[in-house]
Amino acid sequence: MTLALGLASGGLDSLLAIRLVQRMGLDVLALHFVVGFEAKQLHHEVENQNATLQAPDAIHQTGATVEVIDLRHSFFQILSHPPHGYGANLNPCVDCKILMLKRARELMDERKAVFVFTGEVIGQRPMSQRKDMLELISKESGLMDRLVRPLSGRLLAPTAPEREGIIRREQLESIHGRSRARQLELATALRIDEFPTPAGGCLLTDPNYASRARDLMGRREGGVFRIEDPLLLLVGRHVVLPHGSKAIIGRNQVENAVIERFGELGQLLRAEEAPGPTTLLENPCHPQDVQAAAQLTARYGKGRSLPEVTVLRESSGGQVDHLTVTPIVPEPCRFL
Ligand code: SF4
Repeated sequence: MTLALGLASGGLDSLLAIRLVQRMGLDVLALHFVVGFEAKQLHHEVENQNATLQAPDAIHQTGATVEVIDLRHSFFQILSHPPHGYGANLNPCVDCKILMLKRARELMDERKAVFVFTGEVIGQRPMSQRKDMLELISKESGLMDRLVRPLSGRLLAPTAPEREGIIRREQLESIHGRSRARQLELATALRIDEFPTPAGGCLLTDPNYASRARDLMGRREGGVFRIEDPLLLLVGRHVVLPHGSKAIIGRNQVENAVIERFGELGQLLRAEEAPGPTTLLENPCHPQDVQAAAQLTARYGKGRSLPEVTVLRESSGGQVDHLTVTPIVPEPCRFL
């Protein structure tokens, strides 16, 4: 059977695109690319220390074979300086799409597939789904007219698979804009019962998460994130201490457990006698910020009304010492 490769985020548009291509009589390999900021994946990692990368369950209802592809390291490289800029928050959607499609192009050649397709819809998103941007993405990914957008295909120039008779133009849709009416109609017709709400996936589109991520990017060498950063950005209170160091303070037992997994990234602090948060004081750390991190650890624990609390500090090298502090929020601290 002739094979086509489809980008599968798990959102409704990607599921519909898969179903449309299957209805054209092609076999579909659904590629789920992971860039590191997928909310569902990260929440899964909060709960499970040994979580592996997963594709959303919704993709499986299409019956397509699903492959999960880890693009995190390459994506982190472009995130700090995306050539085509950011969307409304810290989401470099145009460069993200180009990155995914470049990889899809390599796989198309390897697997002898005839084209690659996406669930993109003209005019649905302000930046990455403008008609000129769709054309730019086709070109810069190297896929050119081997990239098919089944949901908007009739509004776009004919592609190579159409010219070769692999697909017919009338099998494509002509959806454009932000209305979801036609997609919902198609979901019923194509028996897609389960799909997440639109735009619920990528945390870089969330203003609060993006502002934490922006601060962190400024702290990383070359602005490049480490593999554990997306998860740590999701948990705890994030505080910039008086001398500029960064502390992450757990807000509950689940978050404390996540923070404890990353002790080698700095120093871990816990109040000794009064239960409370685990704090990660990240490296590099200004020596005068240790006291502030200990005060905050005490302030957010059960000993907050005591005159003094003893906080245990454990460095990444395994050294342990004790600091006796007043439980206060020291000035000036900046909460992210
Ligand atoms: S929202 Fe943009 S940056 Fe995030 S995964 Fe989707 S395309 Fe990539």
